[in-house]
Amino acid sequence: MRDLWKAMTRPPLVRRDGPLTRELVQRPAGFGLGRMPPRIAPETTTTMVCGFCSTGCGLQVLLQGGEAVALTPAPHHPVNLGMACPKGWEALAPLRGPGRALSPLVRRGRKHVAVSWEDAVLEMVTRFKAVQSKHGNAAVAWLGTGQLPTEELALLGALGKHGMGLVHGDGNTRQCMATAATAYKQSFGFDAPPFSYQDLEQSDLIVLVGSNLCIAHPILWQRICRNPHRPNIVVVDPRRTETASAATHHYALRPKSDLALLYGLANVLVEQGWLDHAFIAAHTSGFEAFTAHVAQFTPERVAADTGIARERIEDLARMIHEGRRVSFWWTMGVNQSHQGTRTAQALIALALMTGNIGRPGTGANSITGQCNAMGSRLFSNTTNLLGGREFTNEDHRREVADILGIDQGAIPTQPSLAYDQILEAILAKKIKALWVIGTNPAHSWINQAHLHDVFSRLDCLVVQDMYSDTETAALADIVLPAAGWGEKPGTFINSERRIGVIERVCSPPGQALADFHIFKRVAEAWGCGPMFDAWSTPEAVFQILKRLSRGQPCDFSGIADHAMLTRSNGVQWPFPDGAQLTSHERRLFENGEFFTDDRRARFLYDEPRPLPEPTSAEYPLLLLTGRGSSSQWHTETRTSRSSVLRALSPGELYLELSPVDARALGVRPHELVLVISRRASVQARAFLTHAVQPGQVFLPMHYPTMNRLTFAAFDPYSRQPAYKACAVRVRRVDATARSLDS
Ligand code: SF4
Repeated sequence: MRDLWKAMTRPPLVRRDGPLTRELVQRPAGFGLGRMPPRIAPETTTTMVCGFCSTGCGLQVLLQGGEAVALTPAPHHPVNLGMACPKGWEALAPLRGPGRALSPLVRRGRKHVAVSWEDAVLEMVTRFKAVQSKHGNAAVAWLGTGQLPTEELALLGALGKHGMGLVHGDGNTRQCMATAATAYKQSFGFDAPPFSYQDLEQSDLIVLVGSNLCIAHPILWQRICRNPHRPNIVVVDPRRTETASAATHHYALRPKSDLALLYGLANVLVEQGWLDHAFIAAHTSGFEAFTAHVAQFTPERVAADTGIARERIEDLARMIHEGRRVSFWWTMGVNQSHQGTRTAQALIALALMTGNIGRPGTGANSITGQCNAMGSRLFSNTTNLLGGREFTNEDHRREVADILGIDQGAIPTQPSLAYDQILEAILAKKIKALWVIGTNPAHSWINQAHLHDVFSRLDCLVVQDMYSDTETAALADIVLPAAGWGEKPGTFINSERRIGVIERVCSPPGQALADFHIFKRVAEAWGCGPMFDAWSTPEAVFQILKRLSRGQPCDFSGIADHAMLTRSNGVQWPFPDGAQLTSHERRLFENGEFFTDDRRARFLYDEPRPLPEPTSAEYPLLLLTGRGSSSQWHTETRTSRSSVLRALSPGELYLELSPVDARALGVRPHELVLVISRRASVQARAFLTHAVQPGQVFLPMHYPTMNRLTFAAFDPYSRQPAYKACAVRVRRVDATARSLDS
């Protein structure tokens, strides 16, 4: 009887808003795609690189009438081998989602009103020029992104510095991989990640430091899963992340004690004589001084500093010694640290001293974040002069001036201020106008409340973005609607130095334009349009970039054009004129020659420094931050537009809290809590888990309130923000309400 009642009260098995059965009938689709409904059966397909993370997966886009109708991972692409994470599968959804910027907007009072492109660009140029004439050229700056293709980044950088006379521009890549870039430049003489993804399949020991690869770079984790050598996988991370759970060894060290651990490992290797003496002698410099430095990091001291037993430290050193192909990999746990550059260089030191570089399955390897972080590093013209050159080097300035056919005097003699320094200059009223392109600092910048104060002091804020409803666009005086990935052509460079193509497979909505064409409009309105006559299309700019790369370590002058990149599924740099593409996966330094003047890699080190904001009696918990799920991307500006991706991640901010701390605080599972730092408090849902150690809590980075809490500390060499650790306390919301009432 009860079953009958249940059946009668169930919702009817009828939907009136779905596809008709006949629309679901699958037919052979051609192009090796098997069977699919005619609705998405393609007339043709094209393969392009994914526009989210730096893995650089190939996606096969299905086209009808030149417009994308669906996509699938490219089966033979050397990066992803037919796989994609949820973001890749849903890459088209954000283009069609709500919130797109459809026309230029200008603030009139408290409101944005739609205006023509001519009026918006004229207002921007007039206001920027007024600021420059009153406060000097350096009073206007820009903040860009690693999400634009290299051709657009280079045009922005050249327009900003050589055309508009700006002095300072930086990108959100500062938040993601500035540390890795700085570490490589100082140690190898050039920003040169040495690896290919194939190394993940060839190592017999893989050491992952500050990297939750399963979540942040899931396709690279799949590459590890394909490794036939049954590798030992060591994860160094305070949290028992998804990756740590799947690893063979987890080193749950104290937060930010990684530098001490790595020096301790180096010391054991020296003490035991577990070194590649021949490699050190022939290809490195500074080893003796490094040896003297690490001698103080005895296993006893390192055990005390890290909380890792001395036996386990010695075990890991032995594993490194016994491994025949050892690779060291790091991501944001290292990069986003107050001593990230030296930590990355400690990993580089371990690779150098054991000869684990330039061979299959080895390397000191940084996996970066954004799809074109590497393109930004080499060609955004911000901290590096175009092509990885130096602004301070007169020869470099002359080379660039000759290649571009511009006056050498149009090239600044100093690199830009870093992101945080640009914000400080706004606070000091030295920078009065800012152009923000394709990034959302009002959500993503460390210590968010401070940033809102900074932006309120600007005379003019221009935001150029796909969406008009971001936190930063809401503050803008002028909003320029931009096309996104899939709506414009260009190239990206992924973590393993592979240059790949993106294409226009969708029409931008409304009046949105490719950033490339927005920059061209600004150049014309500024009066420097003729300087960029040769920069007529992204294809034409690619030819300019080839000339800028010639003779540099990143030389790709041998790549004919975008079409060759499409045919080849991308090409890794270097690929100089005359090179033959004999392998899809190549690594650097196989001959032991680095890019320093003496061709030797350098050992570099410092004393470890204490946490910038340690815990205290008032703020007894250490807040860790990181990626929450593979379906979320950074500030969720794009991924939140996909109903599929939204369904795959929690809808509200959650706090990972140890059951031990929860018991002490009286917090029950799923209860609302307040997380309170010295700067702000935010509400989150308590998620009790042993993934975090007692005394530590974790928040995922994607939610808009999270960065109200973080503490603005920076690596001194890379100026990258140290997002990963600050002091907080946690209270039940009910308890707080009671204490406020009393
Ligand atoms: Fe795109 Fe990165 Fe996912 Fe690959 S792993 S599909 S590049 S987001």
